[in-house]
Amino acid sequence: MSMYFSLQNLCGFEITRPVCDMAAFFDYELAESAQAAAAGESGTIAAAAALSVRYDERQHIIEVCLVCGEHSFSTVEMCKLEQGSEPTGGEITRCVKLAVVHAFAQATGARPAMPWGVLTGVRPGKLAHKLLDSGKSATELPQYLEQAYLLPQQQGELLTNIAVKQKNILPDSSRFTDAGIYIGVPYCPSRCSYCSFPAGIVPQDEESQQNFVNLIEQDVLNVVQLLGMHSLAIRSLYIGGGTPTSLGDKAFARLLEVVRKHLHFPEVAEFTVEAGRPDCFSSNKLAAMEAAGVDRISVNPQTFHDKTLQVIGRRHSVDDFYRAYEEVRQSSIPVINMDLIIGLPGEDAADIDYSLHKAVELVPENLTIHTLTLKRSAALFGSKIQLPAQQAAELVEQGRELAAGVGLEPYYLYRQHYMLGHLANIGYAKPGTESIYNIQMMEERHPVIGVGPSSSTKLPLADGHHLRRMNMPKNVAVYGQGLAEFCRKREELFR
Ligand code: SF4
Repeated sequence: MSMYFSLQNLCGFEITRPVCDMAAFFDYELAESAQAAAAGESGTIAAAAALSVRYDERQHIIEVCLVCGEHSFSTVEMCKLEQGSEPTGGEITRCVKLAVVHAFAQATGARPAMPWGVLTGVRPGKLAHKLLDSGKSATELPQYLEQAYLLPQQQGELLTNIAVKQKNILPDSSRFTDAGIYIGVPYCPSRCSYCSFPAGIVPQDEESQQNFVNLIEQDVLNVVQLLGMHSLAIRSLYIGGGTPTSLGDKAFARLLEVVRKHLHFPEVAEFTVEAGRPDCFSSNKLAAMEAAGVDRISVNPQTFHDKTLQVIGRRHSVDDFYRAYEEVRQSSIPVINMDLIIGLPGEDAADIDYSLHKAVELVPENLTIHTLTLKRSAALFGSKIQLPAQQAAELVEQGRELAAGVGLEPYYLYRQHYMLGHLANIGYAKPGTESIYNIQMMEERHPVIGVGPSSSTKLPLADGHHLRRMNMPKNVAVYGQGLAEFCRKREELFR
């Protein structure tokens, strides 16, 4: 059960989120937010601790004082200065987090598991890239990450190895000559209870589906112009969602034909389609993908237990997954990705261990092992997750070992807020089959152009660490009505 603390921010800038993230490791929750959540129900919530955070601008020092009853605990962190002048906002936040962790550790005597240290961002890999760019060697990086971010040595090594691998696959460049293209289909056959993606149920009538493909074609034609204007080639194509294969055979085949006709140039190194849900997979769709030149496909079991598939609202069985997987295996598409989730409702460690074994038995070229994340928009949000965080961490490790046993190496990872055990989603691949698009998308060091509702266009700036970004609206009708204007905004991003 959580205890509560009050926060006095004497910094002059916003620190609530990083402070709360760190306090949560010690089971402390901000009294104000708890009070707001409980407004009208239980009344006032008493804070068991009072935390104050101050920034000394002259000395660039963060000072934290935590008062618990009669005892007070003070910690100080000195910020590193950028080019000898001022610390960056990120550096100040890092020091706030460290000081808060040390204060709570002193007060509680606890040493909670922090699998990613004080790193809370979605893309910890970007930090590894940045540090390698700044001159840190791959050998010294894990130790540096441990000292500066409390990152366990093993995770530091994982992050470093992934960043080095990515640099070899997609070398950094000061001038962009190519881009990844993402085409979003925001429809699914039914809603999975853990999902927070704004996907709708696919319209059943042919006309609505064809109208949707018409919109995508207009959007694609605008992208073709954009590529020409900026002499950008296409490195990777990715049709995702949602579930693109939730479209009927005809509309799906036409979507593939639109992409093949306008975008599938000889230089495209990878063409992926997410066919994640076996309940809407068909031989006709597979034939359309082969004809369009798709060379990577995702077929996702998520679990190898029928009882769980029912609970989470996926209308397929494990056998359906096997049938779809076998059909793709017999096709000309060389790379199959499979997604699994650790922590689905009702599953214990033995269930998950079974699924991990079943997945690697098939020896897919790519395997992505997720840890359950329940965001506010998920139907399961707020429900108790049965799997203890420590077991989840052990299963992530078990997944890594099993993947290694069939020659799969980690090549990208990302994290999410509300993730079980503060863990990470890790993508594994047989060397030479790593998804270029996943690297482009996650590390944000190469342009990605988004087509379709909910898609994002990301244009990295010259420093390689910042972005210009534009999101298409989530709602299909809003997207369709304003498409010309959204395309114009996307063009502006590139000027
Ligand atoms: S198939 Fe994927 S996008 Fe669709 S509802 Fe399930 S988890 Fe969400």
